[in-house]
Parts: sequence; structure tokens; C-alpha cells
Amino acid sequence: MPTTEDDLARLIDAALPQTQCTRCGYPDCAAYARAVACGEAGINQCPPGGAEGIERLAAITGRPALPLDPAHGAEGPLRLALIDEAGASAARCASRPAQSIASSARRR
Ligand code: SF4
Repeated sequence: MPTTEDDLARLIDAALPQTQCTRCGYPDCAAYARAVACGEAGINQCPPGGAEGIERLAAITGRPALPLDPAHGAEGPLRLALIDEAGASAARCASRPAQSIASSARRR
């Protein structure tokens, strides 16, 4: 068992997903861990950790496992749309006729 609040916060932080997504309402996982350790935050505010994460925090803190608080979103990672400009350029380049690619290679 952790002996201090700092020890408890370190254990909690180590059990968090470390995405630093802020969906728990704190600026990063470590801040959320400290808030849980001091009783300021519930153990059910981390959507990336989901139900499994809540079970881990319940085991560490001795608090009862609760369902994920829907105020913090649905279980799972934050979804992002990434646009790969370099990949799009490469695709355009690949569709060019082989001769123009060959002639650009000769110019070097
Ligand atoms: S929601 Fe979970 S993963 Fe995201 S910053 Fe908070 S503790 Fe870290």
C-alpha cells in the first residue's frame, strides 16, 4: 500500500493510459492522478482507460468501481482525422507517367 498521497498519485499515474488528452478535466494524466489521490476527482473520469482502467484505479485506491462518467465522453481513444499532405503528394507523383519521373531523375 502507498504510504503517502504522492506515492498513491505515482501508482495511479502509472496505471493511466498516458495519452495526455485532457478528457478527464485535468491538463494531463499526472494532474488527474494527483486529483484522484487527494479525493478531488472520481476514478471514473478517464475515457481512454475505460472500464478496465476504472477497475485498476479501484484496486489501487480501494474505492468502488463505478461506470465511466459520461460527462467525460465515451470509452476509447480520442478520434482524430489526420491529413497526410506528404502522402497525398506521393500519390499524385506515383500517378505521373513513368517518362516524366525518369526525365526528372536524369536532370539530377
Ligand atoms: S482522460 Fe485519461 S488519458 Fe486523458 S489525460 Fe486524463 S487521465 Fe490521461
